[in-house]
Amino acid sequence: MNAFVKDSFNEGHLRSILATVPDAMVVIDDRGRILSFSTAAERMFGFSQAEVVGENVSLLMPSPDRERHDSYIERYRQTGQKHILGTSRVMTARRRDGSTFPIELSVGEAKTPEGRVFTGFIRDMTERQSVERRMHELQNELARVARVSAVGSLTTALAHELNQPLAAITNYMEAAQELVDTKDADPEDLRDAVSSAAEQALRAAKIVSRLREFIARGEVSRRTESLKKLVREATALALLGSGKHEIEMCVALDPRADAVNVDGVNVQQILFNLVRNALDAMEDAPLKRIEIRSRPAAGDMIQLTISDTGPGLSAEMADNLFEPFRSTKRSGMGLGLSICRTLVEAQGGRIWAEPRKEGGSSFAFTVPLAQPVNA
Ligand code: ADP
Repeated sequence: MNAFVKDSFNEGHLRSILATVPDAMVVIDDRGRILSFSTAAERMFGFSQAEVVGENVSLLMPSPDRERHDSYIERYRQTGQKHILGTSRVMTARRRDGSTFPIELSVGEAKTPEGRVFTGFIRDMTERQSVERRMHELQNELARVARVSAVGSLTTALAHELNQPLAAITNYMEAAQELVDTKDADPEDLRDAVSSAAEQALRAAKIVSRLREFIARGEVSRRTESLKKLVREATALALLGSGKHEIEMCVALDPRADAVNVDGVNVQQILFNLVRNALDAMEDAPLKRIEIRSRPAAGDMIQLTISDTGPGLSAEMADNLFEPFRSTKRSGMGLGLSICRTLVEAQGGRIWAEPRKEGGSSFAFTVPLAQPVNA
């Protein structure tokens, strides 16, 4: 090294360079004692260099690494077997206040006149993880939007298609009525008209079942998801799009049963539909309150209940609530609940509605848990 370089790299200079690097640097000796702690490390961990120099580096780790770190170093000293040296890995670190956070750690080794030292470069991954999480959320949202609009445009096309058999049925039935009123009408003609009408009705039914198949079409890809997260996102989306603000939303989920084995987009779609229906139902209600609760159900399932303070189910709907194209709303398609049923059943669950003692209605459905819940 020439004199200039040697002089420049005094300790103060080195520290000032390291202070500008976002990665934290921690140097330890071969007994795990901290020799130096960069400014970025001070910021990241909440300790000052003066507090930690001479302390064991395990101070910066949560259990079980905290207890095991000495033996990791000891093993390396005895066997020379490298585990983390020369590579980088993602692990968890511990701040002064005991909170933990994800880091990427790379460790290098150097021999100095005072002995062997290890230098760790540490990158805080919190930011990157939250970016990844957000990306994942956006992808989910996108998938949902794509599905909703696919169903939307398909429904428009189908409504168009359905008009044909329905118009034909009306014509055949009118003809049949005329024949009934005609004295010498040929019974054969009457039979023809009625059976043609029946044929058209079957055709209409087929069109409807095609729609249900499309929605359910083997797109279920199940993974372990957090119910809390699914509920939070779905309710946020449902409220966001509704433009309603005076809604009281009460969410009480059983913390023992959070991990579910589901297609996340499907479950969000179900929740979204049910919350939107509840909002619609409470349009004129004096008290607008939605409650979402969960509790373990038989067969390693979890039951989610969405209750509202609306007028409750109308008698005309009560019997065939989940049938497609049944609606009491002026611009309703009557598809929401039918889609919900298809999605719930595709994941092995059940969906039903019940009146509430205190007024309003409750919709409940079950989804499979990722692990059984201990009573
Ligand atoms: P849409 O919302 O297009 O009408 P749905 O299948 O989602 O289709 O709902 C069908 C019908 O069920 C609604 O029109 C309404 O009469 C009834 N319904 C659904 N949810 C509720 C609720 N929370 N309270 C009262 N009635 C409801």
